[in-house]
Amino acid sequence: MKNWRKNLAWYFLSALALGAVVVWSAVFHLGRSTLTVSFFDVGQGDAIFIEAPNGNQMLIDGGPDKKVLRELADVMSFWDRSIDMIVLTHPHQDHVAGLVDVLRRFDVDYAVESGARHTIAEYDAFERAVADEKAEHIFARRGMRIWLSGDVYLDVLEPKEFLGDGNPNETMVVVRLVYGKTSALLTGDLTEKGEARLLGSGVVLDSDILKVPHHGSKYSSTNAFLRAVTPEAAIVSAGAKNRYGHPTREALGRLAASAAEIFRTDTDGTVIFESDGERWYQRK
Ligand SMILES: [Zn+2]
Repeated sequence: MKNWRKNLAWYFLSALALGAVVVWSAVFHLGRSTLTVSFFDVGQGDAIFIEAPNGNQMLIDGGPDKKVLRELADVMSFWDRSIDMIVLTHPHQDHVAGLVDVLRRFDVDYAVESGARHTIAEYDAFERAVADEKAEHIFARRGMRIWLSGDVYLDVLEPKEFLGDGNPNETMVVVRLVYGKTSALLTGDLTEKGEARLLGSGVVLDSDILKVPHHGSKYSSTNAFLRAVTPEAAIVSAGAKNRYGHPTREALGRLAASAAEIFRTDTDGTVIFESDGERWYQRK
């Protein structure tokens, strides 16, 4: 997989110019044998919805408020009242708050989290909602493999261990999603230190798609990290005109130099990719 383009005509032209044979019918007849990953536009925050070919569903983070419910309504059947698994990467407001609304609205079987605690009302509400839902609590640790379906799994890369309650960003759930030959690295608000820990750990980082760490903060997406991941697509989840200045010029510059195609929820809206196990396609 080398390229996906927003403009099919442009792709055709470039493919013809390269003498390549491109079978586009594959794009339009993916049917139900695909894995779908939706990077929701929830403003300043993260919310990533994953649906396996067999229909099993997972939501990683819920964004800062109820917006996630509207996004879910766009990609789920209206009679579907359950999401098999939710993952909270870390207990900051822009990741946890929307999950509380999701837990109130949907049946959830499993709730995965990092174990980092944070004294904010939204996180307390999340813990109460998980208990009310009687969802099974799982603390993610490096080395765990979570099977979303018989053919789709997520390897937990971080946290290796609980690093104390100082900064929840240092105990971050980072997963690498794999379906056939395709992969996506989902990093939450991973810090520069976290990136260095991963680089030193020897885990496989190489992935087709990268959810850009920490909304494109200037400290994350270090050159060494990007060299290890070698993403072909990088998705920034950030709110338009957010007060943090995310994504930063610095991170965007490093991403551009990495040759990844950059997608941004603040300018592109919700970004959806599908994989047939061989390659990823962007859904229009
Ligand atoms: Zn965040």
